[in-house]
Amino acid sequence: MEQFSITERNKVKRIPKRGNYDKATVYEILDAAFVAHVGFAIDNQPFVIPTAYGRKEDVIYLHGASTSRMLVALQEKALPICITVTHLDGIVIARSTFNSSMNYRSAVVFGKGELVEGDEKMEALEIITENILKGRWEEARQPKPNEMKATAVLKVTIEQASTKIRTGGVGNEKEDEALPIWAGVLPIKQVYEAPLADELLTETTEVPKSVKAIYKLP
Ligand SMILES: Cc1cc2nc3c(=O)[nH]c(=O)nc-3n(C[C@H](O)[C@H](O)[C@H](O)COP(=O)(O)OP(=O)(O)OC[C@H]3O[C@@H](n4cnc5c(N)ncnc54)[C@H](O)[C@@H]3O)c2cc1C
Repeated sequence: MEQFSITERNKVKRIPKRGNYDKATVYEILDAAFVAHVGFAIDNQPFVIPTAYGRKEDVIYLHGASTSRMLVALQEKALPICITVTHLDGIVIARSTFNSSMNYRSAVVFGKGELVEGDEKMEALEIITENILKGRWEEARQPKPNEMKATAVLKVTIEQASTKIRTGGVGNEKEDEALPIWAGVLPIKQVYEAPLADELLTETTEVPKSVKAIYKLP
C-alpha cells in the first residue's frame, strides 16, 4: 500500500500502534469531513484557522476571499502549512479519569501552498463544493467572472501526513476492575436535521437531490 514518508515531523510517537501513514487511510479521514484547521506561523505568531476544503489525489484545495490574509500569506511567503481534521467517535469512560479517553480518527497533513488560476481554479471550487454537499455543483448557479476574481484558491500539495485512530472500549488498571464505578463508551455521531427552506422559495421549488441524498424526507 502506498504510504507517505515518515520522518521526525510526522512520526506518531505516543502509542505508535495507533499511527498510520497509508495514503488510503489519510484520504478516508480527509474525505469524511469538509472543515479542517489550517495552521501556519506569520512572523513567529502561530494561527490555526477553521476552513472548508476539498481533496483530489495528493492535493487539498482551500478557498476564500482574494484578500484573505491566510491565503495571500501562505502563497506569497511559501509558508509551511499544517492541516488537521478530527472525527470524534466517542467518549471512553474508564473507572479512573487517568484511563479515560476518546475514540477518534484524525489526520495531520503537511505541505506548502500555491494559488491556482484558470481551469484548475474552477475545478478546485467544484471539488470543495462537492466535498461539502455532493451533487450541489451541478444544481447551483455557476460562479460569475467577478465572483471568480473575488475568490482565491490555494492548492496545498501533501508532502507528508499521518493518521491516528483509537477505537474500542475502556482500558482499565487491573486493580480498578472490581471498583463499583460505571465504565463504558458513549458513542458520538454528527447528524443532519430536517432542511429549512428559504422563505423566498415558491412551493413548486423542490428540495434538491443533493439534500435529499443526505436527509431522507418523510
Ligand atoms: C466551519 C468554518 C468554515 C470556514 N470555511 C472558510 C473557507 O472555506 N474559506 C474562508 O476564507 N473562510 C472560512 N471560514 C472563515 C475563516 O475561519 C476566517 O474567519 C476567514 O478566513 C476570514 O479570516 P480574516 O481574513 O477575517 O481573518 P484573519 O486575518 O485570517 O484572522 C484575523 C484574526 O481574526 C480572528 N479570526 C479569524 N477567523 C476566525 C474564526 N473563524 N473564529 C474566531 N476567530 C477568527 C483570529 O483571531 C485571527 O487571528 C470558515 C469558518 C468556519 C468556522
